[in-house]
Amino acid sequence: MLCHGAVIWANQLTEKIKRKLSSIQRKFLLSITGAYHTTSTASLQVISGIPPLYLTALKEAKYFTFTKLQEAIMVSNHQIDSTTYESIIKGHQIHPAEFNIDPQISTKEEQQYPIKNSTFTDGSKTDEGTGSAFCYFDNTASIIKEWQGKLHPDNNVFQAELLAIKQAILFHQNKSIPTCIWPDSLSSLQAIQNPISPHPLVKDIQNLLHCNKSIYFGWIKAHVGHMGNESADVLAKNAVIHGTPFTLLKPLGHLKKILNQELISNWKKEWDKSNLGKPIHDLIPSPSFRNHNWDRREVMFFTEHGPFTSYLKRFHLRPSDSCSCGDVGNPLHFATSCPHTKAWHFSKPSNNNLLQWKRAILRNTQSRTRLHNMVSFLMANDILINGPPAD
Ligand SMILES: [Zn+2]
Repeated sequence: MLCHGAVIWANQLTEKIKRKLSSIQRKFLLSITGAYHTTSTASLQVISGIPPLYLTALKEAKYFTFTKLQEAIMVSNHQIDSTTYESIIKGHQIHPAEFNIDPQISTKEEQQYPIKNSTFTDGSKTDEGTGSAFCYFDNTASIIKEWQGKLHPDNNVFQAELLAIKQAILFHQNKSIPTCIWPDSLSSLQAIQNPISPHPLVKDIQNLLHCNKSIYFGWIKAHVGHMGNESADVLAKNAVIHGTPFTLLKPLGHLKKILNQELISNWKKEWDKSNLGKPIHDLIPSPSFRNHNWDRREVMFFTEHGPFTSYLKRFHLRPSDSCSCGDVGNPLHFATSCPHTKAWHFSKPSNNNLLQWKRAILRNTQSRTRLHNMVSFLMANDILINGPPAD
């Protein structure tokens, strides 16, 4: 919401505006995590998987500039111009009164599927790339036409499914005998039924169907062992490597992906140079959109901003950093050696193994619960453990 109109201001961000945005975000982060108010914003962002607001604003501004203003943008030092990506087509292409392709498309589950005079389409995406294919069985149930297109790895499976459908229609168009095409992609068929689908390939298919009234579509469930669907599946997988290269513009989802990669990389740079939140940096060196879902007591323990004497001394809330037992009252003390918290002790980390020790706690549900109980005890027994507050 705050990023609305980001295109206007996000490109001229001063340090002052960045700080302002960060202080707005900080209030939310404190309330989401339940952290102490002294905890650094940078740590809270990394723990909750929420990037600095100015980075999100920059990302939104670039996306807007590209998709709405149709201007080139720089992403990770590469210029991206609008001719590389699919454009979104808004509204009706066929007049609503004339959009009557519904009778040509069925998405209901059939009891059985024919093979004679039927065409099967499929798309496939693997680590190696994207493939698209169809095969046509004639009246004797023999395959007499196969088509395989090899797409760019940045093309997605939805595009591959739609391309196969479009190619199948092109093969059958202008023939007088009615024919049925069977994709296993329900989402493709639903998109084709939608008169205002913004997808350019869907618009092409709708126009083709509009002009070819003897072409029908049915939905075949994938992986039910039907020969037609299995053949198309094998062809599409094979097309990833051996298909005829076919150029399709990249989907906008890919642009979002590279904008997110750029954001994460800038966030990482920021996180690495931030000297606040060192204990969290050690635990989570690479920020991501993943919320680590720490309980507030874990946030306190691992940020070291919590009901610990060492913390209270640091922020001048107690005169000394000694626990009432006599030793320095830091988080590790309470977790491993303080007599007050004996009921929840963990074994001490071996030499220089503090990080692994912390990670082991976070990996184990029972350890985490024990840690919660220990911190809860400290919160409830503040005076006993830390002594009276400073004047
Ligand atoms: Zn103690």
